[in-house]
Amino acid sequence: MTEPPHQPPRWVDFHCHLDLYKDHAALIAECERERVATLTVTTTPKAWPRNRDLAAPSAHVRVALGLHPQLVAERESELAMLERYLPDARYIGEVGLDAGPRFYRSLPAQERVFERILRACAEHGGKILTIHSVRAVRNVLGHIERALPQDRGQVVLHWFTGTPAEARRAVALGCYFSINGEMLRSPKNRQLVASLPLDRLLTETDGPFVERKGQPVRPREVVRTVADLASLRLVSTEAMAGAIVCNLKRLVSD
Ligand code: MN
Repeated sequence: MTEPPHQPPRWVDFHCHLDLYKDHAALIAECERERVATLTVTTTPKAWPRNRDLAAPSAHVRVALGLHPQLVAERESELAMLERYLPDARYIGEVGLDAGPRFYRSLPAQERVFERILRACAEHGGKILTIHSVRAVRNVLGHIERALPQDRGQVVLHWFTGTPAEARRAVALGCYFSINGEMLRSPKNRQLVASLPLDRLLTETDGPFVERKGQPVRPREVVRTVADLASLRLVSTEAMAGAIVCNLKRLVSD
């Protein structure tokens, strides 16, 4: 018996942490049922094999191999494990830099790790990265410029909160931006998001770190962000959803 062809996705959640919810397996089934193209990121390479196996039968859920910058202080030694798995991973994340007050001290180690990951991605080619850049956008873009040529990998900046000049620099580097509901609460960020090229926009939840009414936001709730983006860009929700799915298809087919 042949399986029916998979239906195309309706929504995109390009950055969430399914393995940090209590109902990981149920969430994969939910993404499948609701047709949410979901990139579930890992914060340590140790979590990658189990995540990969759980999502393997899914048409809509993909798993990224990561080492979160906030964990680098304790887990820099896991870089070797990440490098071992990297040839088998199409998606890389969560990776990046965090220069916020709690993680500032590990910044030199974070930069070593991030640079190594970018160089490994460039060497293998064809990777798609979801990158964290809290208080470190200029730094993150500098590393990308030096270590990951545009024809060797593609970058999605997750929860971007840089300046308009930094956004223009990121666009020139070929970056996409995944937008979540929290980002759109600040008027300054709304203005910035309104100025980004439509063909570089994706959506994300960053669940379970983002909550709504005291509950971790679920991938299917990304529809709220699509509707908010649509009103910000003065198009219908359907048109915005279509544009985002189209951006995802272009990103993964390049
Ligand atoms: Mn995250």
